[in-house]
Amino acid sequence: MFDSLILNTILFISILLATFCFMEFMANFSHRNVMHGFMWFWHEDHHRKKPKVFEKNDIFFVIFASPCMTLLISNLWFPSVMTAAIGFGIMFYGIAYFLVHDLIIHQRISNRFLRKNSYVQALIQAHKDHHASINKEGCKNFGMLYVPSKYFQ
Ligand SMILES: [Zn+2]
Ligand SMILES: [Zn+2]
Repeated sequence: MFDSLILNTILFISILLATFCFMEFMANFSHRNVMHGFMWFWHEDHHRKKPKVFEKNDIFFVIFASPCMTLLISNLWFPSVMTAAIGFGIMFYGIAYFLVHDLIIHQRISNRFLRKNSYVQALIQAHKDHHASINKEGCKNFGMLYVPSKYFQ
């Protein structure tokens, strides 16, 4: 009993962390190929208009949250370490993405104190470069939490 609790905890944490990292690839991939692809009409206002309280781009949060909600809610009836860990991994990534992208970078709330941190500065610069183009094509840095090393110089 005790052993399986430890094993399950290790399994849970490993799957959760792996899911979190995998989500950075998923975010990068879908930002590049979907949001700057056939779904550009929902992402466009994020590149063209100044951030408002809500923008069309926010619909993506609902879309990306749904597999996570499905996994976590299904756990109420079918408990499983695997689906719970994946669900929480996606959820934590979603929270991190929202904090970093919407609150810190696009300053939906004021956060001057955070901007002294070098990772935060690199993160902001990398995403500003993403916004350098108001068009679907010619954008770089589609990921979010992983910042290319050149931004740290
Ligand atoms: Zn974009
Ligand atoms: Zn942005």
